[in-house]
Amino acid sequence: MEKYIIARGIRVNNLKNIDVKIPHKKLIVITGVSGSGKSSLAFDTLYAEGQRRYIESFSAYARQFLEKMDKPDVDHIEGILPAIAIQQKNPVKNRRSTVGTATEINDYLRLLFARIGKTYCSSCKRHVQIDTVSNITETVFSLPEGTRFMVIFPLTISQKVSNQAQINLLKERGLVRILVDKTIVDITTETKDINIHNAKAVYGIVDRLLVKDVIKERLVDALETAYRLGAGHLSIIYDITNNPTDSSISKGIPTEIHGSQWIELKYNKQFYCSYCNIEYSEPIPALFSFNNPVGACSRCQGFGHTIDIDLDAVIPDKGKTLNQGAIVPWNTPTYSELLESLKNASSKYNIPMNVPFSKLTEEQVKLIMEGTEDFCGLYDFFKWLEQRKYKMHVRVFLSKYRGYTLCTDCNGSRLKKQALNVFINNKNIANICSMTIEKALQFFEELQLSDYEKNTAHLILQEIRKRLDYMIKIGLGYLTLDRMTRTLSGGEAQRVNLATSLGSSLVNTLYILDEPSIGLHPRDTGRLIQILEKLRDIGNRVVIVEHDKEVIKKADEIIDMGPGAGENGGTIVYQGSFRNLPAHNGSLTGQYIKGRKAIKIPARRKLSGKKIILRGASQNNLKDIDVT
Ligand SMILES: [Zn+2]
Ligand SMILES: [Zn+2]
Repeated sequence: MEKYIIARGIRVNNLKNIDVKIPHKKLIVITGVSGSGKSSLAFDTLYAEGQRRYIESFSAYARQFLEKMDKPDVDHIEGILPAIAIQQKNPVKNRRSTVGTATEINDYLRLLFARIGKTYCSSCKRHVQIDTVSNITETVFSLPEGTRFMVIFPLTISQKVSNQAQINLLKERGLVRILVDKTIVDITTETKDINIHNAKAVYGIVDRLLVKDVIKERLVDALETAYRLGAGHLSIIYDITNNPTDSSISKGIPTEIHGSQWIELKYNKQFYCSYCNIEYSEPIPALFSFNNPVGACSRCQGFGHTIDIDLDAVIPDKGKTLNQGAIVPWNTPTYSELLESLKNASSKYNIPMNVPFSKLTEEQVKLIMEGTEDFCGLYDFFKWLEQRKYKMHVRVFLSKYRGYTLCTDCNGSRLKKQALNVFINNKNIANICSMTIEKALQFFEELQLSDYEKNTAHLILQEIRKRLDYMIKIGLGYLTLDRMTRTLSGGEAQRVNLATSLGSSLVNTLYILDEPSIGLHPRDTGRLIQILEKLRDIGNRVVIVEHDKEVIKKADEIIDMGPGAGENGGTIVYQGSFRNLPAHNGSLTGQYIKGRKAIKIPARRKLSGKKIILRGASQNNLKDIDVT
């Protein structure tokens, strides 16, 4: 790689035909008073040329989709690299973008959940998995030695075929015993008194065994046979008379056979809850993405909110009675007849017209919403309006009463129920995304995994931890992963982008940053500098436009623009190390930082006398604060 970016004869904006030489693997800080030409050099020259060259490296076909950039007014530039600008503007356009998706952390979470997430049945909360013969064998051997058990499979009994014919059929399939409700029946002898038509559950018995080492091969055989005969379903049923407190008892179903207590454990070859007969699909990464139809909640299409009637807009003042016009849309002349018909039916349905809306009973509100044969309810009213939306004035009217409401299917998590049934250490992906980044990192650091899980997931976990850690280092540990990026401040958005760049470990790139310390707590500036140094150390050039003294001090090289603003600026007053930054008159930055000149703070700042008052501000990370 070339050692320098060299540019000669730069005349962009107010720059006065200057030359600049930017060394590789250095942290460069461009300083100077505002208007001195810092941004002209950093963004309008270096970034613009980096972008332009980058775009030109694409094929003509690809280029037609990209914005064409003009060549900056420069005689000659060499050694330029593809450039990434990280500015204060919040560039987010995608309404669904969150901190998690922007930082790619969600991509890794999706992989993680698909690899090691455990699906739990939404109805009985049991772990749903494909039960292999070896898994089942393992469970059997975890039972106390000497436990009596049977390998059985469910039989489908047809009401159309006679009792005897079905039993004969079972005999032909090689069965000797069946389990009919609470009784074991030998079908080779005692078939006369058995009526399988009336039984609640009938099982074929493949083998009866005691738990001990020598049975392993026989057990595997029995399980395979049971799966074959039971079309992928089987059960292990074991006697707990001697071990009434065995730990796996709670997972199964208690059963009585010939007066003693047994437990039935159900197994299935499919991804299926055998206890509730619910089929699940095996988790794949797309299931955990609200940007993918596979995972997005179908009701809200992955937005977390639906556009519905906003009751707070329909009934804005719940202190008003129905007679006083609590239902605002029915106060208009066009729809006042609806209020009339409600009034006429009010005594019949016991809806008081002179009681504040907030004092109505749940039952009464429900009637008003749903309506009766005597009057139109609010739901039907809005449904009727929906059908007449082709009329402009109806659309305008409707828009006043509609708002975003939290999706009732996914509760704002934006994912299908199926995705929310998958857990890692008792947390589903929505639980993790609603934690602060600090909490999430703690969760992943304390995560206890089996050896198998560690092997399959450690690389993914490493990426997740690394990215969460960058976010904390950059002072954003208080954000949650599900925070919408469009609600971030410019400084926050810039730092999210910075963390993303670091996470993706791009090298040979020219990073140009616009005052990254703005909005940062002084405590976090040090960490920001570490991040910038890291970006440099992995093989990038980092150019920062900055006023902050702490950042300037850490620069490998300072380019000080000036001496003044506009026509009085546009030249490089100093380029070199911080240590050698002169305190002479040419460099204002030098004078400020080296203490010759201090910014005079007016003795008494003018006060306007006006106040801005905020009460109960609790959006995002504000905690119900009042500000005056
Ligand atoms: Zn279940
Ligand atoms: Zn939803």
